[in-house]
Amino acid sequence: MVSLHGGHSGDYCLHGADTLREMLDAAVRAGFTTFGVTAHAPRSDARFLYEEEIDAGYGPDDVARNFDEYAAVCAGMVAEYADRLEVLCGAEIEVVPESSYADEAAVLRGRHGLDYLVGSVHWVDEMPIDTSAEDFEGAVAARGGLEPFVLRYYELAGEMVESVSPEVIGHLDLPRLYAEGAPELESAAVRSAVGAVLERALAAGSILDLNVRSEEKGLATPYPAPWIVRLAAEMGVPFCFGDDSHSADRVGVGIEAGRDYLLSLGVDTITKLTRLGEAVVKEEVPLR
Ligand SMILES: [Zn+2]
Ligand SMILES: [Zn+2]
Repeated sequence: MVSLHGGHSGDYCLHGADTLREMLDAAVRAGFTTFGVTAHAPRSDARFLYEEEIDAGYGPDDVARNFDEYAAVCAGMVAEYADRLEVLCGAEIEVVPESSYADEAAVLRGRHGLDYLVGSVHWVDEMPIDTSAEDFEGAVAARGGLEPFVLRYYELAGEMVESVSPEVIGHLDLPRLYAEGAPELESAAVRSAVGAVLERALAAGSILDLNVRSEEKGLATPYPAPWIVRLAAEMGVPFCFGDDSHSADRVGVGIEAGRDYLLSLGVDTITKLTRLGEAVVKEEVPLR
């Protein structure tokens, strides 16, 4: 049991529930050996605060302070849980503002000594794409249709991978959330765009998040879709599970199904991150 994307607890994420400690205790109960916590990175520009942060009256400074506290508390829990769970402390970074996110990610990593980063594209042209069907449709319309939107999404993903070199790439085909089954998601042009992202992932040494929260969202399969899993496997880009948990009761849910999914597609190893002395390194783990 390994997850490198999740642990979005309610004390550090307003759209999460429960405390970080409750999530780590749930991870111990679920039999995890390594559990990566990846709090959403703070955003320095108020335009990119999440709706619930705005509703709570938060400004960028409050969000930054909350992350500071998260990083300090998580670092303390690494030693506290070491006898029963390997805790990794990371952040899930955003691609906004487009002009400065890569620099901000590097600063965040350095300032807090984070173990790793998950790079996720939740914004296209600085518009949110996974918050509601309406927001998604708005971002699609601004690009003039689903295929140009999806191509831009993967272009951003590729740029992010190249400029940030995240250890993990979050839910690579997130546009499925509100467009599952649309033929535009796997057109010839999109397939080639995904191939280009995977080339960059290979060059950056990134691991793909086999994200099983898709099940909670009503999608047929985890992210990414079977054709992307096959393509990545052919190219030698590794996977690791992400439960993308936002509450203690979701910790570990779907990992077993994710394992079956990978095995059914001919992938029989995952690559996890693990501590080796002061460093965090990659380690291949067989799935059977
Ligand atoms: Zn979240
Ligand atoms: Zn995400």
